[in-house]
Amino acid sequence: MGFQHDALTLASDRSILHLMNSDTVIDAAIRRVADFPKPGITFYDLTSLLAQPAAFRHTVDRMIETYRDRPVDAVAAIEARGFLLAAPFAYSRGVPLVLLRKKGKLPGATISRSFDLEYGQDTVEVHREDVAPGRRILVVDDLIATGGTVEAACELLEEAGAIVSGIFAVVALPFLDYEKKLAGREIIYLQGYASE
Ligand code: AMP
Repeated sequence: MGFQHDALTLASDRSILHLMNSDTVIDAAIRRVADFPKPGITFYDLTSLLAQPAAFRHTVDRMIETYRDRPVDAVAAIEARGFLLAAPFAYSRGVPLVLLRKKGKLPGATISRSFDLEYGQDTVEVHREDVAPGRRILVVDDLIATGGTVEAACELLEEAGAIVSGIFAVVALPFLDYEKKLAGREIIYLQGYASE
């Protein structure tokens, strides 16, 4: 097997189920780019993982396996790399795929939310009619850094009436303290990095 659970900690004070995972297949497949997009940032580039079929299959299979016994009525994908993970998951699971896009990309009636990035600012939008009120939706992105993106995504979906049942990312950077923003939410990731 290419992965192991390093630690499983239930932080009861903040009710966060924190799975600190290490996956050697994923770790080996991710390209690290120093000082991108600005000095001091290590960019964990999943395009190199996507270009390796065995690593991509392994990642999607682990995602599908992780949620096999968890209730998921729909999956919400954050542009752009979140699309690439959420799409095979939605196809396999047979649930609706809801796209959360950058400002101005969706043609229909949208709701939107702006947020701060690790490096800059952004806005995420969704077609209101694509979000079914009362349904449990899984939010998917490639990487959680400061957590601002997934926080905005969760709030957007909740504003539209959905119940966010969890957050999935291939990579997470817990040292950037996203847990404060995402307190009370179940976050699952496959590969964590302790520092940049
Ligand atoms: P954040 O909102 O700070 O959690 O940033 C997460 C979003 O920005 C994700 O969509 C990532 O694709 C991207 N991102 C932020 N920091 C990095 C990083 N160090 N390496 C790769 N992607 C990143």
